[in-house]
Amino acid sequence: MNTAQHKNIHVFAEQREGVIQNVALELLGKARALAKQSNENVVALLLGHKVADKAQDLIAHGADVVLCVDAPELEHYTTEPYTQAIAQIINDQKPSILLIGATTIGRDLGPRLSARVGTGLTADCTALDISEEGDLLMTRPAFGGNLMATIVCKDHRPQMSTVRPGVMLKDAADASRKGTVEHVSVTFDPSKFKVKIKETIKESRNLVDITEAKILISGGRGVGNPEGFKKLQSLAAAINAEVSSSRAMVDAGVMSHERQVGQTGKTVRPDVYFAFGISGAIQHVAGMESSDYIIAINKDKYAPIFQTADLGIVGDLHQIVPLLTERLTRK
Ligand SMILES: Cc1cc2nc3c(=O)[nH]c(=O)nc-3n(C[C@H](O)[C@H](O)[C@H](O)COP(=O)(O)OP(=O)(O)OC[C@H]3O[C@@H](n4cnc5c(N)ncnc54)[C@H](O)[C@@H]3O)c2cc1C
Repeated sequence: MNTAQHKNIHVFAEQREGVIQNVALELLGKARALAKQSNENVVALLLGHKVADKAQDLIAHGADVVLCVDAPELEHYTTEPYTQAIAQIINDQKPSILLIGATTIGRDLGPRLSARVGTGLTADCTALDISEEGDLLMTRPAFGGNLMATIVCKDHRPQMSTVRPGVMLKDAADASRKGTVEHVSVTFDPSKFKVKIKETIKESRNLVDITEAKILISGGRGVGNPEGFKKLQSLAAAINAEVSSSRAMVDAGVMSHERQVGQTGKTVRPDVYFAFGISGAIQHVAGMESSDYIIAINKDKYAPIFQTADLGIVGDLHQIVPLLTERLTRK
């Protein structure tokens, strides 16, 4: 493949019911930084039905061009219509890079698309950079998260990568940014559509989003059981925080997966992250090390979490948590 023909960084602007997902804005921020290095344009791919009014938002967050595909076939995400539409764009526009959020939609779309256009895909990247030769350096955890691997896709284009929500930082919106919006029409082959959405039933569970919390009180195996987590909840209530957890407590059935921090959970960056009874395994640290201020409480003074923490307290959390709650609640 003549890779030199390929230019510009495309970002899949995932929207759900017309709401642009945060991860798309985060990827636009990263794409801008990469585009500065490679001297290319950032192009947002906005697919859906009656969503063109979202284009300006994408420009404000870093897109130079928005390619908008508006079609009833794209109203709800299903694999085949979205794959057909983006494959056509890739074949016409020949982007050098395509970034996709590693959401449930992105994880479905990315592999199908990369196979359709005959290129590679690096999933769940945690860092992206441009090499001296101009290739995309895609870094992701490998071997169970015990080392970081940097992957290069030298011979095929686009260089495709999925990135988990919360990993990249979105740029602040700049309403004065200028960009162009182009409407692209796509010819679908409905004979290949395998799935038809008949009805959408929303889960009524009240899901918490720990990625939005300003203060997180996280508990690990040292907290031990639901009784231990009740102590963390009292502390959280006193300082308006959310409770999260390590995977050990999710695997033990004490906490739900939506509250798990780490490589196979969520990536968080609150103002303050408390780590109670968490040892600091690399897979946990990968999800919280960008927090502004990390306070670790562990009875083992050699626990690895202290290497990541800004403030460390060596002691028994079962004594410290009630004391802290009492002190912070006292008027
Ligand atoms: C592919 C893969 C993906 C993974 N993904 C994740 C992930 O997303 N998130 C994640 O968290 N893990 C993940 N893990 C698991 C990870 O490797 C660790 O096993 C896990 O993080 C350990 O959880 P922990 O720190 O709560 O438990 P432990 O490692 O058992 O640590 C418990 C800590 O509590 C301290 N402690 C005990 N009692 C007290 C007390 N009374 N007071 C104070 N301190 C006390 C101990 O000193 C110890 O440091 C993953 C592993 C693999 C292989």
